[in-house]
Amino acid sequence: FFLAIEGGDGAGKSTQVEALAEWIRAKGHEVVVTREPGATPVGKRLRSILLDVSSAGLSNRAEALLYAADRAEHVDTVVRPALERGAIVISDRYIDSSVAYQGAGRDLAPTEIARISRWATDGLVPHLTVLLDVSPEAARERFTEAPDRLESEPVEFHQRVRDGFLTLAASDPGRYLVVDAAQEPEAVTTVVRHRLDQMLPL
Ligand code: C5P
Repeated sequence: FFLAIEGGDGAGKSTQVEALAEWIRAKGHEVVVTREPGATPVGKRLRSILLDVSSAGLSNRAEALLYAADRAEHVDTVVRPALERGAIVISDRYIDSSVAYQGAGRDLAPTEIARISRWATDGLVPHLTVLLDVSPEAARERFTEAPDRLESEPVEFHQRVRDGFLTLAASDPGRYLVVDAAQEPEAVTTVVRHRLDQMLPL
């Protein structure tokens, strides 16, 4: 079973990934927690290129392809092998982040970005994608460290990203769960657990 957790910066994805992984593990399943960008050795190098402030001015298309390269390596070496041995994989970000950030955010055609990701992943789609939805203003208050290159983008960029995520979720309601991430983290976890209980014999 493949679960993707998506949302803007400061939506609380990593907190939810940890809480859900702990809950599923307690039921006796193998859980692989992973993330994009940067889950593999090559991915870590791509992540540092992508997030370093010195990459300001990186071409939009080059950026999109570097994310796709990170994703291809991630799927081939981490996600598919784990799914094949029966593990439950939880990924902090996946294809929708590219469609929202490189597509809606950077103004590249979202359908083209989705097409690149489909090729990069050889068509691997999560069983469920959880969208942690929060306004950029509320999210910003949660940043604890110095903002990285993307977090430093203007609020309008993050608003386009949020709208991009919501458009994706609306296009396929059966595969998405949209959760109001302005709630307390425990309340968010409860909503997701409820959905997973319905989908999985956990
Ligand atoms: O979620 P995480 O903090 O690891 O993401 C790192 C940064 O990469 C974030 O600032 C996020 O906005 C950005 N990102 C992006 N496009 C993606 C995935 C992440 O711009 N496809």
